[in-house]
Amino acid sequence: MDLKKYILNVKDFPIKDVYFKDVTPLLNDADAFAYVVDQMAKFVVDCKANVVVAPEARGFLFASAVAYKSHTRFVLVRKPGKLPREVIDIEYTLEYGTNHQQMHKGDIKPGDKVVIIDDVLATGGTIEAIVKLVEMQDGKVEGVSFLIDLPFLHSEDLLQEYKVQKLVKY
Ligand code: IMP
Repeated sequence: MDLKKYILNVKDFPIKDVYFKDVTPLLNDADAFAYVVDQMAKFVVDCKANVVVAPEARGFLFASAVAYKSHTRFVLVRKPGKLPREVIDIEYTLEYGTNHQQMHKGDIKPGDKVVIIDDVLATGGTIEAIVKLVEMQDGKVEGVSFLIDLPFLHSEDLLQEYKVQKLVKY
């Protein structure tokens, strides 16, 4: 399926000179959304994973459906102040400043086999932070899956040691 038909480039969003990939048309097409969820779920099964992990907000849209389809657990990664119980926190560097990602402590059990899902791979900062959150809790990252890869924004050897699924590249 030609998924690019369902992904729009929005200029100057959220700031000037940025082209934002808008995936809402894909969610607004039942066949395209089902295709993406099916492909991701097949990857999760191929990785023999028992847990799907995803960051807010757009990662959730795909990962929850993928977890249902592949009958795995689903663990949320969120920004500070969103998760109500004790969290594991990781700080990572952005172009300007730092950011944090958090997961509820104990959501990943030692030996869990994890696939991380997100909508867009850009610089790779977010995914690297989530990999660390999983590994800090003795989970094993079996694979990482993205709807969209923007390879011009990250180094070629990013995530080399993991199985990676990328459904669309620009
Ligand atoms: P990275 O940390 O630079 O790889 O950015 C990836 C994160 O930013 C993902 O969680 C994406 O949801 C979000 N993101 C980056 N660029 C875009 C975009 O063009 N459209 C939608 N989300 C984006």
